[in-house]
Amino acid sequence: MNRPARASPTLVDRDRACVWHPYTQARIAPPPVPIVRGEGVYLYTEDGRRLLDGISSWWVNIHGHSHPKLNEALTAQARELDHVVFAGCTHPRAVELAERLVALLPRGLTRVFYSDNGSTAVEVALKLALQYWGNRGEPSRRTFITLHHAYHGDTVGAMSASEDSIFTRPFASMLFDVLRAHPPYCYRCPLGLERSTCQIDCLGDLERVLRERSGSVAGVLVEPMLQGAGGMIVWPAEFLAGVRRLCDRYGTLMIADEVLTGFGRTGRMFACEHASVSPDIICLSKALTGGYLPLGATVATEAIYEAFLSDDRTKTFFHGHSYTANPLACAVALASLDVFEETGTLDTVRALEGWLREGFGPLAALQMVGDVRVIGGVGIVELVTDKTRKDAGGYLDNVGPRLAEAFLHRGLLLRPLGNVLYFMPPYVITKNETAWAIEQIHEVLNDL
Ligand code: PLP
Repeated sequence: MNRPARASPTLVDRDRACVWHPYTQARIAPPPVPIVRGEGVYLYTEDGRRLLDGISSWWVNIHGHSHPKLNEALTAQARELDHVVFAGCTHPRAVELAERLVALLPRGLTRVFYSDNGSTAVEVALKLALQYWGNRGEPSRRTFITLHHAYHGDTVGAMSASEDSIFTRPFASMLFDVLRAHPPYCYRCPLGLERSTCQIDCLGDLERVLRERSGSVAGVLVEPMLQGAGGMIVWPAEFLAGVRRLCDRYGTLMIADEVLTGFGRTGRMFACEHASVSPDIICLSKALTGGYLPLGATVATEAIYEAFLSDDRTKTFFHGHSYTANPLACAVALASLDVFEETGTLDTVRALEGWLREGFGPLAALQMVGDVRVIGGVGIVELVTDKTRKDAGGYLDNVGPRLAEAFLHRGLLLRPLGNVLYFMPPYVITKNETAWAIEQIHEVLNDL
């Protein structure tokens, strides 16, 4: 008896049988997109479709996928040293990377503590700040100030510091309290003011909290210039300068979470440069390795480092991950910094910013577009159902998945944050490719 030949299961079939994806409600989500290859700004599916990676694979990729120079660095390092414990041992790539980072970072950030990803870079920053004050004999400084709409990661400390939202609510009982202040969300000004006439009055909220609680504040944690997952909120640089000023005035630490913004995403190597400020601690990850491998770095000032130097072992920073300072990740990060120097990557981002401004500007005229924002290599449109009232559905707005599907159909991989649609491609995207992507955005929004 002849049996019909059984089609071999696709990657999606196999995936659906055993994989659990992040941020995905499997019951209603479309099947995952099966990606088998990446090159430059493009990803290729199992069945040969080409997709433009419009979100830099979750904001990590900057020089393009499968970059020859990064590939070479990775394979060369694998032949030399794969991994070694970083407590009590060291290796050349970790030292070189620390030296290169310190040379590039805002002045005063001199001590590099490695971890695995963006969330751990933030956890380390919070723990460092807390123990810094404890080691200095001020254990009452135990709380943090963070901003509304903040997103700092998915581990417990990072979630505590993030905005109270659907991301964190199921875990509320395991989170610690933080104090919160207004961000400069100009489109939805918390004070109802207009940017053209305001004096960055929203900073007054941070000052109020600091004034009331300054003796108990270990640090102020912010995402400088661009609050990412909380709605792609672009700041006026004056707010950032004000955060530094207030931290100095009230004698607390300023912690900059540059996990998203670091390595050129906002048009400067680090977003803190927009206001010429140096934080006391900076958190780095994502594009640190050009988007190749997980690596986190939390960089602190010498004053903070010195508070941990003691003959008393209880003053040690007892924190470390198995893959801390992984040599493969450090080698790729070094190669990524080489690419910055050799190809003028920051100039590339600035050119991209110009194309985005030109292309995104006209989107403001569309019926459902409430606000258009551009910073560096990121173009953002905030969608509303009523332009005058600025009504919008937020993160769970069904418009997000609907748009994602429409773009996917056209060969553009985007992942809107609910009603906030953003385009954040690898920096190596060309002018024509940028224009094509914006054309897709325009057409899809027009059809909504
Ligand atoms: N901080 C910021 C500003 C982020 O945008 C993210 C991730 O999107 C994180 C921290 C967490 O990074 P990771 O996803 O690598 O844990």
